[in-house]
Amino acid sequence: MTILVNAHTHLYSGLVSLGMPEAVPAPGSFLEILELIWWRLDRSLDADSLRAAARFYVVNALRGGTTALVDHHESPGMIEGSLDILADACEEFGMPALLCYGASERNGGVEEAQRGLAECRRFHKERATERVRGLVGLHACFTVSDETIREAACLARELGTVMHLHLAEDQVDARDARERGYEGVVDRLEQLDALVPGSILAHGVHLSTEEVERCRDAGCWLVQNPRSNKNNGVGFASSLSASSRVALGTDGFPSEMRVEETELVSLGAAHGLSAEDARARLENGERLASSWWSAEVLSTGHAVLATEQLVDIGRCAEKQAALLWQRMADDGARALEE
Ligand SMILES: [Zn+2]
Repeated sequence: MTILVNAHTHLYSGLVSLGMPEAVPAPGSFLEILELIWWRLDRSLDADSLRAAARFYVVNALRGGTTALVDHHESPGMIEGSLDILADACEEFGMPALLCYGASERNGGVEEAQRGLAECRRFHKERATERVRGLVGLHACFTVSDETIREAACLARELGTVMHLHLAEDQVDARDARERGYEGVVDRLEQLDALVPGSILAHGVHLSTEEVERCRDAGCWLVQNPRSNKNNGVGFASSLSASSRVALGTDGFPSEMRVEETELVSLGAAHGLSAEDARARLENGERLASSWWSAEVLSTGHAVLATEQLVDIGRCAEKQAALLWQRMADDGARALEE
């Protein structure tokens, strides 16, 4: 059996492929892409739209051959219980998954981050199963305080799990760390004792070779997301070749791992990455997965579904997508008024 692991994605963006309208005004910088698209989307999620997005994403991931998913979730308007909705979708179709809430202070300060970490704790203790496991998430270092980073790492150790966060996706992360008095974003995590072994660090586009080596030596995984990085215009993660612990993710794009691999081979050719090394990123996902699941659990996804059920999941997704686009438009209109 070929094991294809999507090592970093977002089930909450499962409806995006159903015609999400262009952002107005059009974003320029990476931060504007976050503010005008992704943070507007996650603020607009409610239970029904999240359920529809997760089911639609998981079913299509299975049909595309994905064996396991590593999800990073945020829904600031509905934090408590949100991971259960994702877990239900994964369990319904037998998809092995690692779930976390990405704690952040960007909407509601420290209290918001506390609620995010509490959701990770609650899920891990009360709801996680052998198939659907719980991690501790941070959105990204630049949207949280030192205290929140320290607390997240302590929680991961206490629960015997690992962290999952966005790291150096754009230059903004390193700049923020320097402004806080650190040499860089990896130095910040090290000084806060937050490079928990086994943790999953998404992107690493703006890490130096030396920083990548420090992540590797700490036993952390880095996850490259070439389609997303290209789409957001943040650059190509060239320095990741300094580690053998690099897997492949789609960062919210549909979970088509062979498409992502082909994109990496193609983009990598222009950046000195051999096709062999590019393909190894996808193979590394199997190593990551085998540290979490037995072969038996990894072989249980229900790739074959009744046509009727597929049609129903698709219809429900389309209906919720239309409502979600309206809420996002309303969110944008409110932002313009303020
Ligand atoms: Zn991401």
